[in-house]
This record gives sequence, C-alpha cells and structure tokens, in this order.
Amino acid sequence: MLPRISVFSLGGTIAMGASAPGKGVSLSHSAAMLVDAVPALAEIAEIDASSFRQLPSPDITLDDLAALAREIDRRLDDGVRGIVVTQGTDTIEESAFVIDRLVHKDAPVVFTGAMRNPTMPGPDGPANLHHAVITALEQQAHGIGTLVVLNDEIHAARYVQKLHTTNPAAFQSSPAGPVGWILEGRAHIAMRPSGRYPITLRADAKPVRVARLTAGLGEDGTLIDLALGAGYDGIVIEATGGGHVPKAMIAALARAVKKIPLVYASRTRHGETMRATYDFPGAETDLLDRGLIAAGWLGGIRARLLLTLLLSAGAGRDEIAQSFDDWRYPFGR
Ligand code: ASP
Repeated sequence: MLPRISVFSLGGTIAMGASAPGKGVSLSHSAAMLVDAVPALAEIAEIDASSFRQLPSPDITLDDLAALAREIDRRLDDGVRGIVVTQGTDTIEESAFVIDRLVHKDAPVVFTGAMRNPTMPGPDGPANLHHAVITALEQQAHGIGTLVVLNDEIHAARYVQKLHTTNPAAFQSSPAGPVGWILEGRAHIAMRPSGRYPITLRADAKPVRVARLTAGLGEDGTLIDLALGAGYDGIVIEATGGGHVPKAMIAALARAVKKIPLVYASRTRHGETMRATYDFPGAETDLLDRGLIAAGWLGGIRARLLLTLLLSAGAGRDEIAQSFDDWRYPFGR
C-alpha cells in the first residue's frame, strides 16, 4: 500500500497550454492531467487529484484560501500523509504564507508551480510536481510549516519570495533558507524554522482590506489619506531602507494611525526594519513613537497578509503589535 497524497490545483502556468496560434498560453490542465503527466508519481504515492480552482494566481482570494485550508484539514483528518498544492508562481509566496497561518497540523503542505509553461522547451512543472510530492512524503518535513518547492529547492513559506519574472531560479528565501533541497528522489531538510504562528479566522469575519503603499522620493501623504477615506482597515507602508519615510508623509501617517493599524515594512525586501538606529522626522524611531508597528523581516507583501488575517481574526491594535513582535522575537525579547 502506497502512502496517500492529496494534490489540489489552483491553476497558474503549470496548468496552462497553447490556445490560438500566436497567442499566449491559458488555463487548460486539470489536477488529474498534471498528475498523469508525471508517471513517476504512481510509483511513490496513491494520489487523489482535485481541481480546486482554475485561476491565474493574482485572482486567488483569501476566501479561496480559507476554503482550501478547511479542505486540507479534512483530508489530513481522513489520513492523507501530505498535501501538494499547485498554483501560479506570481502569488505562490502569498498563498503559501496564508495557508501556513490557517492550517495548524504537522503534516507537510507543499506548494509548487512552474516558471516555464508546457509549450516551452524544458518546462519545469513536471519536475517541480514530482519534487513537491517527494517532499510531502518526507517524515522530516513534518512540523515545520508550509513549504514551497521549485527548482530543486525547498523553501519555508515564511521566507520564500519570487524575485525574478522568468528565471526558473526565481525563488529565493530571505532572511534565512532555503530549508532544504531535493537530490536523487529524496527531500533533504537541513533547517527547521521555529514557531508556527497559527491564526484562526472568525466565522463571521467581514471582508478586510489592507493597503500596501510604497514610500519614495517626492511622495507625500495623499495616498494614505485616500486609503483612509476609502475605508481601508489597515495600511502597510513599505518604507525606504530600515523604515524611513519622507517628512511630507508624516502628517497623513499621524492622521491615519489614530484610526486604523499602520505597519511599516522595508521596501528593500531583505533584512529587518530598524527600531532604534535613526532619529529624524520620518525615521523608524519617529514612526514607532507615533504608534506605527514594525514589520521586522516580514516585508511588505507578508506584512499586508498578516495584518489582513489578524484583523479577520478580530485582533485589536495591541494584539496586532504583539503578533508582529512575536515574529521578530520567536524566543522572547
Ligand atoms: N506567471 C504565472 C505563473 O508562473 C501566472 C500565474 O501566476 O498564474 O504561474
């Protein structure tokens, strides 16, 4: 008896094929077609394949992911050994981060996709799917949260980022990782991220909208005021460097932070936000004094998702600040 793996497909390049000549690719492959295209899978696992959604990945919603988390829980309760999710690479880091918060079980949940579509020479989808299933079967992959497998590497959902538009090596982990790799049909886990940071959404949660705005030369606070006026529930400012904004943004930030939670992340996408290095108007010390919350190493994309999920779970400002702190200091300050 082979171990059971559930594969859920959400769409993306891995599931695309040629449409009309001269046009690009579009969604065409079901989950079963993806699995059938990799005969080696039948030798290692008994796979049930579900076409859960069929979308270009920017169209995946938090509701889709909440529904997926419930379905993953159901399958794991039913005795499945591990889960593989295939989707578009454009937002795979976001989906994986959300599922990492919403699925609280130890069994591996592994995301994968493809950078090269099946009409191109050297499509990477089949190898990535094979490697994702191998990782989902790996005992060492239990208890370390959701994983993302592409290009022979295993990344933790909390660290992985897409940093190139087309290169098959588009995925990198920061500030730590990758956590492992695949070699000769075996997943090797070299690093175990600590802490799981589970979130439980409220059943009656209203839709939450969090804006992500990037600071830059010549920016004033107009977009912050517009976001507040448009009824956004929170704002993540991608500040320059370690957490700095132009002075011209400060008045709008001060207005907004009295009404909704504001988080500052770094637009650099690598490294941590500072807390106590610079002292000038708009510096991190000023932002903290005004009540903004530091995103730490999470970066703007993840900080926006974390804030959205926390608000959807009913968290207030103090709980939100505590949660971002817990990410920065998993072993306490
Ligand atoms: N380029 C994307 C991909 O890699 C398309 C998408 O994200 O759906 O799958």
